[in-house]
Amino acid sequence: MPEGPGEGTAGSSAKRTTKKANSHDFVEGNCYAPAPENTDHVSLKRSYDLFIGGKWVRAPKKFETINPATEEVIAEVGEAGPKMVDRAVGAARDAYEKTWSKMPGRERGKYLYRLARLIQERSREFAVVETMDGGKPIRESRDIDLPLVAAHFFYYAGWADKLEYAFPGRKARPLGVAGQIIPWNFPLLMAAWKLAPALAAGNTVVLKPAETTPLTALLLAELIEEADFPPGVVNVITGAGRTGQNLVQHEGIDKVAFTGSTAVGKLIQKTLAGTGKRFTLELGGKAANIIFDDAPINQAVEGIVNGIFFNQGHVCCAGSRLFVQEGLVDTVVRKLKRRMETLVLGDPLDKNTDIGAINSPEQLTRIQGLVDSGREQGAKCWQSSQKVPGKGNWFKPTIFTDCAQSHRIVQEEVFGPVLAVQSFRTPEEALEKANNTPYGLSGGVWTDKGSKIFKITSQLRAGVLWANTFNKFDPSSPFGGYKESGMGREGGLHGLGAYVQLSGR
Ligand code: NDP
Repeated sequence: MPEGPGEGTAGSSAKRTTKKANSHDFVEGNCYAPAPENTDHVSLKRSYDLFIGGKWVRAPKKFETINPATEEVIAEVGEAGPKMVDRAVGAARDAYEKTWSKMPGRERGKYLYRLARLIQERSREFAVVETMDGGKPIRESRDIDLPLVAAHFFYYAGWADKLEYAFPGRKARPLGVAGQIIPWNFPLLMAAWKLAPALAAGNTVVLKPAETTPLTALLLAELIEEADFPPGVVNVITGAGRTGQNLVQHEGIDKVAFTGSTAVGKLIQKTLAGTGKRFTLELGGKAANIIFDDAPINQAVEGIVNGIFFNQGHVCCAGSRLFVQEGLVDTVVRKLKRRMETLVLGDPLDKNTDIGAINSPEQLTRIQGLVDSGREQGAKCWQSSQKVPGKGNWFKPTIFTDCAQSHRIVQEEVFGPVLAVQSFRTPEEALEKANNTPYGLSGGVWTDKGSKIFKITSQLRAGVLWANTFNKFDPSSPFGGYKESGMGREGGLHGLGAYVQLSGR
């Protein structure tokens, strides 16, 4: 059995954090023996600077990043003010003009392949840090986030020298300097989604990770250094929303790529209006997961669980609205509750864990507020009976039945492990209810009939649709939304197209 937390000789902060983890009764009530991930191979510094122009630059101010499962400080990171933002954009501009945009695509590809291989080599360590900093179960960061991160770099490395095939008959030129702002729910994966296509197409980048999860982006900067990228091609600046705002407003930026809340997405769009700068916005969602009465029920129940409880529901494309055909509602809800009781909630570093910690106290408050509103507005709330640890941010898997279309839990993005269940009689009713949302990011359909899948998916107003599965991702597949879920696509050729200027034909 692996060593218990805190017993290893890990780097200072990892050790500090996991040691305290022992004081938590993470396993109480679980029927599994604990299987904590070994943290010996993780070596974190106590303090991180900003990565600008290939150098580590000290920021005048620092802030702490905290493990949401233990409330322990993991490390402190720099807070980039306007001067540092300016310096990073300047470094990216220099690198763009002097090296990266002039480099043949096959050479850029070599750097990206090298980075992808380095990520694979250190993926175990990166997965542990992602889990410590963000609260997601190690099983997910190890088996989903990290493999997808490497896959994105491999995929776009392959396009770097094939732009003329990607856009036949057109000349593809890079846009220049990209300002990229990423959220806290998939920190390293979102960095990969943004960096890989930008770099493959010949752009240089200033990346700002979220305030609560800056560590894996900083470790990635170390790998970029190790891979010997020319200085300034990738710059990583940490900070709060203000840093992101300064980046968006900087005149030296040619393109903004943002993933986060719809509210901030709207602000960014307003800021950029009339500037001629390109942008892509990947914002919130409120996906409908539709179960017809001819669906394979047990598979569908697994799909519902994966749809809403994956990453504690901190997923923009989470299947947070469940629509079940009328005759099947009782059966699905009964099976779902039974399955929810088996989910293991607790130590995110334990390999048994299904539900980790909520990313921040602010997010926990937001989830609790929306759940309270659900009760107040008359929906029926049910929560699984797992015990939650005394310290840290936790929320039990929750479902609401007796929901009305007007309820806030049906209309607003909860971004937590909370599912709103409704019924429908006909496909038309399912479609009408599913499309009755300001969002349009994703959706799912469960049925035995291929024709029904085509009929429903062709009328669902959402950018990403799954049939008889949910939350499946691939670097070659475009991802993005309609309406308040944003604009533009990431992933696949579409994602590459968002970083080039096409001419000719
Ligand atoms: P935000 O949109 O505030 O944060 C996303 C990123 O944008 C972070 O890096 C953040 O920095 C940065 N940012 C914040 N304000 C600005 C600004 N004015 N200009 C430029 N960048 C800015 O999301 P929150 O963390 O506040 O989460 C709130 C809600 O957003 C969640 O409940 C969820 O509904 C939704 N959300 C959706 C995501 C998605 O994947 N679609 C991802 C994250 C959140 P910092 O973190 O340092 O404040």
